[in-house]
Formats: sequence, structure tokens, C-alpha cells
Amino acid sequence: MIVVMRVGSPEAEVDRLCEDFEAWGLTPERIVGKHKVVIGLVGDTADLDEQQLQERSEWIETVLRVERPYKRASREYRHGEASEVLVSTPNGKVAFGEQHPVVVVAGPCSVENEEMIIATAQAVKASGAQFLRGGAYKPRTSPYAFQGHGESALGLLAAAREASGLGIITEVMDTADVEKVAEVADVLQVGARNMQNFALLKKVGAQDKPVLIKRGMSSTIDEWLMAAEYILAAGNPNVILCERGLRTFDRSYTRNTLDIAVVPVLRSLTHLPIMLDPSHGTGRWEYVPAMAKACIAAGTDSLMIEVHPNPAKALSDGPQSLTPERFEQLMAELAVIGKAVERWPLPEPVLV
Ligand code: PEP
Ligand code: MN
Repeated sequence: MIVVMRVGSPEAEVDRLCEDFEAWGLTPERIVGKHKVVIGLVGDTADLDEQQLQERSEWIETVLRVERPYKRASREYRHGEASEVLVSTPNGKVAFGEQHPVVVVAGPCSVENEEMIIATAQAVKASGAQFLRGGAYKPRTSPYAFQGHGESALGLLAAAREASGLGIITEVMDTADVEKVAEVADVLQVGARNMQNFALLKKVGAQDKPVLIKRGMSSTIDEWLMAAEYILAAGNPNVILCERGLRTFDRSYTRNTLDIAVVPVLRSLTHLPIMLDPSHGTGRWEYVPAMAKACIAAGTDSLMIEVHPNPAKALSDGPQSLTPERFEQLMAELAVIGKAVERWPLPEPVLV
């Protein structure tokens, strides 16, 4: 349930109401906007009557029952405004959100060795990416497939960060690794296969680095938003949602079906920033440019693109990886669409 206070409500009145709510066993979450204060009531509100609640104070403008199972992730929770996720990188802060230019995240599926990760970082940076992606820990279907180099690859990501100035996005799969990964990553990625690993969600929610949560390959939008709610409820407000394609009946030509409709759907449901990943979404590099352009036209806040210096030799996801040259070409094409929707050029990071 959400209590919207009138413009100019005295703070003492908001305090008094919050004390009442706490006495009822609820957790009031205060969101102070430019003009209004909104109180999100977390807990069991099933027995509360909206009308009676409204009558408790003349300063209450309206009481909304959120029918959706998530509260903190809901658009109403931020009184209809989009939130932004500010990420610190060596080059300053980069903002993800509806009010900001598109942020491009690029890099290999996995971190293979120092030379390749640094060369890829420098190449994607030169083409306009703001973040380097790359897995140190890889969730693989087969236990015999390359699992990532683990901790040593975190050191290589740190070196690539230093060499390029790019922010780092990398996956964490195990609660035991969260601190270690957070020392290097500017954004922690929770992969599609771990979207409902609730212990992991609570753990990344209890630390300070922003979290990118990928949609499970067969997850509904509500399940995905509930997973984001776990992170928000654990105290971390910096969550980005990433659509990476769904498993559908026809896998003859594409690995997954990229659900671009999430852009307008999520806009109506949540305030959280949106990322789309046409690389995992299609599984084929040939299809990535067309889908990446469509993602920007649809209004995504950011894109994740896999880039590898030699896709034929990649230890994972080679068939969907662009070469640095193809990525450069793609960025030029994306600029055309990005400018048309007024979400380009890429921002110069603000130096802090
Ligand atoms: C990845 O980003 O390399 C990855 C494994 O993605 P997903 O969790 O979407 O499969
Ligand atoms: Mn991959």
C-alpha cells in the first residue's frame, strides 16, 4: 500500500503517521520527491482499509493499494518517476536511466587472458562503450565446459579497468564470492540462471555495488521484478534489469527470443533502468546489429553486446560475439537510431 502525502505536508505529520504504521507492525518507507512525500507500507496490509487510512490525516492526498506483488520495484513507489542508477567508474560516474543517454556495455563472454581482455577493453572503449563486460565465473550448462578462470580473472578485469578507464560488469554466481567480486566490479551481474537464487539476491542486496539482474530464460516479468524486489528489500536501491532472451519453441535459427516488448511493459510497471542483451538474445552475431538497433528504437536505457577479438577461438559464446571491427561499425549505426530518439551521443562521463 502506498500513502501519497499532499504538497507541503509538515514533516512532523509524516513522522507521526510513520510511528502509527510501525506500531501496526508495518515498515514505512519514506520516499521524498521534489514536491511530495510518498510512504510505502511494507508488510501485511491486507486488512487495512484505504478510506479509513486516508481519514487519519488531512495531509494524506491518496492511498493506493498496489495490487502487484512487488512494492519497492513498482513505478508507483517512486511516484511515477524513473530512477537512475549512478555507477562510479575510473572515468567518473555513469548514469543508467530513462532520462539519460543509452549506456553501452561490451566485452567478451569470458575473461580468457590478460592480452585479450585489455585489447578488447581498449577497442570497445575507442568505439564508445562505457563498460567492459566479461565473466570470471561462468554458469555453463555442462560441467565439462570452460567454467571461467575464477579469481585470477578478477585480477585481469582489474587490470583492464586500470588500462581502459572503463567500468567493469561481471557475474557473481556464489554467495561466498560476493565480496571478492565486488572489490573489482563496478556493477555485479546476477545471471539468468541465478535470477531466483534468493540467497544470492539477499547477499548482493546487502552490499553497496549496483546490481544488474538478468531475466531468467523462462521467467515471467512479475517473477523478474520480484527477484529485483529481493535486492531492493535487502537495502540496495541500485538495480538494473537486463532482458537477455527467452527460451521459446523455435530454436532453429536463434538461441533465444529477445523480448523487446519488456521496454514499454517495464516502463509502466517499474522505475528501474532497463538493459537489453541482443547477443544472448539471438545467439548469432549476424543478428545482433538489427536487434541492437531495435532495442534503442524501443527505448532501452542500455545495451549489452558481446565482443571478442577472435570469435572463432572464443572459449564461450563465440558464435554470438562481434569482432571489435564489427562492433565499431555497429556503434556508428546505433548512433543514427540513438540520435533519432534523443538518447545519443554517449555522455562524456563526469569527472569527480
Ligand atoms: C553472460 O552474460 O555471459 C551470461 C551467461 O548471460 P545469461 O545469464 O543471460 O545467460
Ligand atoms: Mn555469454
